Amino acid sequence: MIRINDILDQVNSYMPDADTSLIQKAYVYSAKVHAGQTRLSGEPYLSHPLATAFILAQLKLDVASIAAGLLHDTIEDTLATFEELQELFGTDVAEIVEGVTKISQIEFQSKIHKQAENIRKMILAMSKDIRVLLVKLADRLHNMRTLNFQREEKQVKIARETLDIYAPLASRLGIDWIKRELEDLSFQYMYPVEYEALSRDVEARLGKRKVYVEEVKEIISRKMAEYGLSCRVLGRPKHLFSIFRKMRRRNVTLDEIYDLIAFRIILNTPKECYEALGIVHSVWKPVPGRFKDYISLPKANMYQSLHTTVIGPYGERMEIQIRTEEMDKIASEGIAAHWLYKEGKVVQKEQAKQFDWLTQLMEWQKELEDPREFLESVRMDLFSNEVYVLTPDGDIKEFPSGATPIDFAYAIHTEVGHHCAGAKVNGRMVPLKYELQNGDVVEIITSKHHVPSRDWLKIAKTGRARARIRQWIKTEEREKSLVLGRELCAREFRKHRLDFNEFVKSGGGDIVAAFSFKSLEDLLIAVGYGKISPTQIVGKLVRADAKDDQDEQPEIVQEEPRKHGAGSQGVLIHGHDDIMIHLAKCCTPVPGDDVVGYITRGRGITVHRTNCPNIVNLDPERQIEVKWDITKESGYPVRLAVTTTDQKGMLAAVSNAISAAEANIMEAKVTTSPDLRASFTFTVEASDASHLRRVMAGVRKVDGVLKVERINAS
Ligand code: MN
Repeated sequence: MIRINDILDQVNSYMPDADTSLIQKAYVYSAKVHAGQTRLSGEPYLSHPLATAFILAQLKLDVASIAAGLLHDTIEDTLATFEELQELFGTDVAEIVEGVTKISQIEFQSKIHKQAENIRKMILAMSKDIRVLLVKLADRLHNMRTLNFQREEKQVKIARETLDIYAPLASRLGIDWIKRELEDLSFQYMYPVEYEALSRDVEARLGKRKVYVEEVKEIISRKMAEYGLSCRVLGRPKHLFSIFRKMRRRNVTLDEIYDLIAFRIILNTPKECYEALGIVHSVWKPVPGRFKDYISLPKANMYQSLHTTVIGPYGERMEIQIRTEEMDKIASEGIAAHWLYKEGKVVQKEQAKQFDWLTQLMEWQKELEDPREFLESVRMDLFSNEVYVLTPDGDIKEFPSGATPIDFAYAIHTEVGHHCAGAKVNGRMVPLKYELQNGDVVEIITSKHHVPSRDWLKIAKTGRARARIRQWIKTEEREKSLVLGRELCAREFRKHRLDFNEFVKSGGGDIVAAFSFKSLEDLLIAVGYGKISPTQIVGKLVRADAKDDQDEQPEIVQEEPRKHGAGSQGVLIHGHDDIMIHLAKCCTPVPGDDVVGYITRGRGITVHRTNCPNIVNLDPERQIEVKWDITKESGYPVRLAVTTTDQKGMLAAVSNAISAAEANIMEAKVTTSPDLRASFTFTVEASDASHLRRVMAGVRKVDGVLKVERINAS
């Protein structure tokens, strides 16, 4: 059991001049209020706050944090109050304890809604003072170390929560040793069988590799000395969970994982690190794509190091990290190594920079209302590896790995995102789905006419970009639904010889309220979405009129002459990525085909060819006139059935004919029938009906082709 003197000794080792009276006072107070309480282990309860405070002293934190560690369970588990702590230990300490209490009371449940709410609460609690999180991490670490006293069911739950939330947070703060320990402890309780087996296997292997590790260390030291570099070389086994994760992710066995040991070369200056890298690469061949320079592009948690993987002396992969003593210190101790709360000193702006991610999370928790979306953002942005890329001006931007130029564009500005037309990476054009790599220089090309599409949601990885795209689509959908709803209602009104303009002028009268909408606009949008039908509106209107004007002659409204413009031509189809208009998958219309629209519920209009057999079964009330209005040259998928004589090279000949007509082939299927004929089904991309005719004519000309037909999906 940790004693108070262990804590004081530790504090004195890094803060010799510190006034530790607050710590001693907190100890006495904590002992008093926790008196008589025991832990599940049978130990006095005080052992837990003592252990927590000791971990905080190992992190080299300030006196207030350590005092808060001693007191962290007093508000929750004893009669102590916030006010009392504030009076005895000051506002700082009291607020840290209160924050930790708030986090502890959060139950991280599996229900998405609940979970999002809880993470929100946690972010709020820790964003006031990062020490709240540090105390909570120390508390969790000791609880994980003593988890064996809990019931099995609780063990798994706590371990999962630790792996999902606290280990990533420790990683974000750059406290590597806590992250590793939390991960390995969670692993042990979540997968006890796998843990046992793997730790046994790894140990056996490492035993055999002792000689190998020494040999590699010797070669490195000798080579460095040859070039006049003095260094320390370490060969450390990787922690079990990282091996386990690698096996799972790559679906490989332990035998296939060669780099169980990470070698580390520690030098004096960054310049020496690059020299050492050159030497390593001259001795062993580097594995392409595995070199990472976190010295010139430090991680968000200030981590700096060079990483490389080389082919070692026995043809095996070897991971080598190269860094200075100072960088090594930061890598193991995290923020505490270079940033310390001193009495009465507030964290400086420069130093607070590393908590940018926390500020960003705060922003999102305000912005993102959908819990699913919020959780996704937190996961992506807080709990995944980062890549660091540069703007053309040399500003460093940080993204979750897998991020694309779209994320980059939205990180610059929402408008840049909305009009992002393309991207240049390191001076070369890349597709929008390109995954950003460390050190890429990214330049966004914008165009006024370019706007987001639904597909972007599949490409964007950051919460910011996804939220902005969704917002745009929502607005766009509303606008399009309004136009559509207006057109549909006008049609229905005309049919019943009612005056739609008058209806609009009167703001929809009682009808809006009758459908429980706030405004006429909302009502029309609902019609556009297909949530209510124009027939329902007219029905209500006629019935209301009948009631009001029972004795009066119904007024006959002259049908207005059809106006020119979009309304009179029916709904315009702008393309296959149109938000409210979808091309039917059964008959795959292309521009130029005769088409008819069908109002679906919630998805706007589906466009079919007029000869599509599915039309027959559709409610004629919900059919609507549509017209092509295509300016772009992108392709539309069409299915063609081609029957040929069964001879060699037919597929190639037909394919060539299609390509010669400048159409892409998206899919080709072959079936040979017993009557010496071959049947092919092609899905080709045609830009419009005349292009399609050209394609079909080209195929017909091929020798051996018997029939070419456009077909519907079966
Ligand atoms: Mn506790």
